[in-house]
Amino acid sequence: MVEQIVIYRAPTAEADTEAIADWLEAHVDASVSVRDRFLDVHRTDDLAERFAEARVQSPHEFSTGNTMLGTVRYEERALDDPEREGGVLYDGIGIQRALNEALPAAERELDAVHVPVLDRAIGTWGEHDGRWHKRVSVLGQPALISVPGLYEAPAKPEAYYEEQQRHALLSGDTPPREVLENQVEGEFLVADDPRTTDALKGYVLQAVHYLETGEPFCERNSCRLFNAHYHEELIEAQLREPAFCAEHAAMYGAST
Ligand SMILES: [Zn+2]
Repeated sequence: MVEQIVIYRAPTAEADTEAIADWLEAHVDASVSVRDRFLDVHRTDDLAERFAEARVQSPHEFSTGNTMLGTVRYEERALDDPEREGGVLYDGIGIQRALNEALPAAERELDAVHVPVLDRAIGTWGEHDGRWHKRVSVLGQPALISVPGLYEAPAKPEAYYEEQQRHALLSGDTPPREVLENQVEGEFLVADDPRTTDALKGYVLQAVHYLETGEPFCERNSCRLFNAHYHEELIEAQLREPAFCAEHAAMYGAST
């Protein structure tokens, strides 16, 4: 039984962890608390090296890591100053293992779920297609939630990629993201989207649901526990009524 949920802030991200905690408290039978950034609260000496080891080097290459001194220094600076990080994809499983080990032993019990909200991009390796895939979350202990993943992991509408290709053919380069976001019909979340906090609520609940039941996701696409692969599905599952399917409304309440 999950009795305690601890959510950690992501200071540089457009995510209101207090609002997420309030929402969860109204929907689950556990105590919910918010702490500062996980990487500050549970900082250990080897964390910079662990981040360096988890760096994805190439989208099609399984092996990760670069522990050259300069890279470790970069990771140290990024840990000290979250404004300085960005543009790097990390192996989510490697980061999860590192953060699990960084948790004090007394806090690693499964009656508490730790949910670091991260301003880093994380991915998992796809055995079936031999490449890395960005993720919104990596469930387990701790359960990682990636704010950049919310914008970048689910596929955007077809028109977005068509417009990207059309622009590349005409001008030989990729259009600025803002241009695409203004020109493309269809719904998707953009970086720092004002709907970020609302969309993340369901992802945090998935982390709790997984430790409670062993099942991370719901098959019904209108439910907040649905595993969306497209932005349009994400919006349907997280931002439109109803919040839950009948089965999960019975567990987590029918309110929004
Ligand atoms: Zn459901």
